[in-house]
Amino acid sequence: MPDVFADLVGQDEAVATLRRAAAAAAAVLRHAAGERTLAPAGPGLPPGDDADASDGMPGGDPGAGMTHAWIFTGPPGSGRSVAARAFAAALQCAYGTGCGGCPGCHTTMAGTHADVRLVVPEGLSIGVGEMRALVLRAASTPSGGRWQVVIIEDADRLTEAAGNALLKAIEEPPARTVFLLCAPSTHPDDISVTIRSRCRVVPLRQPPAAAVAEVLARRDGIAPDVAQWAAAAAQGHVGRARRLARDPEARKRREAVLAVPRRLTGVGAAFDAASALIEAAEAEAEASVAEADAAERAALETALGAGGTGRGAAGAIRGAAGQLKDLEKRQKSRATRAQRDALDRALVDLAGFYRDALVMALRAPVEPVHTDTAAMAGAGAQKWDAEGALRRLEAVLACRAAIEANVKPRIAVEAMMLALWRG
Ligand SMILES: [Zn+2]
Repeated sequence: MPDVFADLVGQDEAVATLRRAAAAAAAVLRHAAGERTLAPAGPGLPPGDDADASDGMPGGDPGAGMTHAWIFTGPPGSGRSVAARAFAAALQCAYGTGCGGCPGCHTTMAGTHADVRLVVPEGLSIGVGEMRALVLRAASTPSGGRWQVVIIEDADRLTEAAGNALLKAIEEPPARTVFLLCAPSTHPDDISVTIRSRCRVVPLRQPPAAAVAEVLARRDGIAPDVAQWAAAAAQGHVGRARRLARDPEARKRREAVLAVPRRLTGVGAAFDAASALIEAAEAEAEASVAEADAAERAALETALGAGGTGRGAAGAIRGAAGQLKDLEKRQKSRATRAQRDALDRALVDLAGFYRDALVMALRAPVEPVHTDTAAMAGAGAQKWDAEGALRRLEAVLACRAAIEANVKPRIAVEAMMLALWRG
């Protein structure tokens, strides 16, 4: 049975930190159980004896291996939410290790553990109402006797008011509550300085292509040469690499994106290319959430017992309907974000192409990002020179920035295509 950290690719350092923290957390629980008859447990965690941690819990021993608030940072696809969920499972694990086999591990990984809440922002930001309700629920005693865990998948999408509500909870954490935040970085644009100062940071890196390829081959049974190509083309995004390796449609969508530079022959063609890019991103988004949606729904239905006729069944069914509705709401929010993310990845692919052209124009001794369009990038390098390639790369990056700043995606992409065509 692989343990809960098995899916974290190329993140040895982070996994080591989380394993130590989970062990320290288990020690805290044992300690509390041992002391319960002697003295009432005070708020906060008793100091641990782990000398490794440097960034300890507020008001506690900085040497404690466990703390109440964590931020997982890293580029998209590096596994921020995978890491947070695995750590949550290790905290709920009966053995305190994240064994992968006990009910605590199992239900957490399946998303059905009663003491693990996953926050996915509704729409594009997490509002204050949602956060207040969450903080309130997180303060209750864990029903399983271990920890109340709150995972906030896109903490960079908190509204300011929601951030303040969260900060209050993190400043005075209930004794058994743990907050796990995921964000691209600890830059003040992503996470407020005050929240950051209360959290321990677990930085994830862009996993090296070789590590991604190895996992695709070992875990997913993908042929090594295909795994290697997919890992390089996905630029360290594990989920994307798997889709590229397995799904011919995903490969077609990527090819459609990389065909853009060739298609830009006039104004009309530029608008057509904009539509094609947006459609490819929409299809990619749909595919990226379909698998997770189905798995979550199946897990929830199993957890709800899918039936039951005894006394109380009517109430259970009413509760089940509510849970299914919650799940559907969460999945809808995720679909919205998946569209943005897929468009951003398409732009990153395109930027990779112009980066390849720039590198070639400069004759820099660096490997291309896209080996399969290297010849086309070479032709571009000849035609445009370094300066022209750089201007085009900048046009793609400006499009990303505009969408980030809430310009309507279609308008930003059309402007980019015109800039790419004019050169
Ligand atoms: Zn376990």
